[in-house]
Amino acid sequence: MAKVVKFGGSSLASAEQFKKVGDIIRSDAERRYVVPSAPGRRFKKDSKVTDMLYACYDLAEAGREFREELSAIEARYQEIIAGLELSLSLDEEFGTIERNFREKAGRDYAASRGEYLNGIIMAAYLGFEFVDAAEAVLFDEDGSFNGERTNRALSARLAECRCAVVPGFYGAKPDGTVKTFSRGGSDITGSIVAKAVHADVYENWTDVSGILVADPGIIDNPKGIDIVTYRELRELAYMGFNVMHEDAIFPVRQEGIPINIRNTNSPEDNGTWIVASTCQKSKYVITGIAGKKGFCCVNIEKDKMNSEVGFGRKVLQAFEESEISFEHVPSGIDTMTVFVHQDEFIHKEQKVAASLYRLAKPDSIEIESDLALIAVVGRGMKATRGTAGRIFSALSHVNVNVKMIDQGSSELNIIIGVTNDDFETAIKAIYDIFVLTKL
Ligand code: ASP
Repeated sequence: MAKVVKFGGSSLASAEQFKKVGDIIRSDAERRYVVPSAPGRRFKKDSKVTDMLYACYDLAEAGREFREELSAIEARYQEIIAGLELSLSLDEEFGTIERNFREKAGRDYAASRGEYLNGIIMAAYLGFEFVDAAEAVLFDEDGSFNGERTNRALSARLAECRCAVVPGFYGAKPDGTVKTFSRGGSDITGSIVAKAVHADVYENWTDVSGILVADPGIIDNPKGIDIVTYRELRELAYMGFNVMHEDAIFPVRQEGIPINIRNTNSPEDNGTWIVASTCQKSKYVITGIAGKKGFCCVNIEKDKMNSEVGFGRKVLQAFEESEISFEHVPSGIDTMTVFVHQDEFIHKEQKVAASLYRLAKPDSIEIESDLALIAVVGRGMKATRGTAGRIFSALSHVNVNVKMIDQGSSELNIIIGVTNDDFETAIKAIYDIFVLTKL
């Protein structure tokens, strides 16, 4: 049995946090493969080491002096080493880093040192083997991640170690140049390692006890989600849930390895399980409510539209010509509405309207702005009658006008369009009816 445990920056920001992480790993012998991030913020106005590295390297690249900035980074690591009472020196490593910065080794190399050094400390602290991600997380020449080669190399390398630390966020191209994933990419490394060792679970440790049913910025103390499927999570993430790096789902999903989101500061909490499928019902029919503001809708009207073959294609072509992707397209007999992102659309509005008149020859076009979309997501909706009815009666009770309704054929989600002004009220009403009153 093997568990892969990834710890985010806030879990590794200080020696005190490192000790919590050490306790978590030592409390379960199956936690054999560890993926650390770089040290994050210790307090609200603190800096993340990754940001400090980027800033320091920018000075180096501009040919300016950067020693002071590099010393501040070194101090962050020294504080951790001293707090853990390790007899470990990073002097040589910092000498190499300084030299490489002067030789302009690249921004990716610079940023990657955050997890690299944290990995060295973590391995020393736990007595685990250190495996440099540059050895086995492989990118192609053009900078794209090569999943197959990585899986082969990483499986073979980790088969040699009973316990190992693999720093997150980076790998290397065939010529050895360091390449990072996008920000937050240690989540991806954790997932890749879990796949390579055929882990039983990928534990992703952070500073919250799992995923919440709704945004805590809108709902006071929202309930947590115990279990969510990959597909549900994808719907929620798309509509604004910020859980983990989007690309981190794919490697484990291919293998059906569950992800468990846990809280380093509250390890007794079960957190949230993200799984391929489950027969466990979610507590409240719905699993989560997510949403985004800032949409526009374009209403296109044309008599006898329903019998004109190809009308939909012409409408969508008008958007395609301006390189605008659409979100939803609800339609009636003689109307079709296209929802688009306002900030993308606003500059191209007249161009799209002209294309629509040219291609689709509508009777009229009307544009409405400042709309929001809300996704009510839940695998439980399929087996429950009246979910849509409950949503709309809740919304009418709080006087929210529903502009659009779209239910996917999978019955996994219902999308509702409202005005930006009604967004928070609508989310509160939906949360109340399903989670608080459980009617
Ligand atoms: N340290 C990197 C960042 O701040 C990667 C990560 O933490 O996942 O984005």
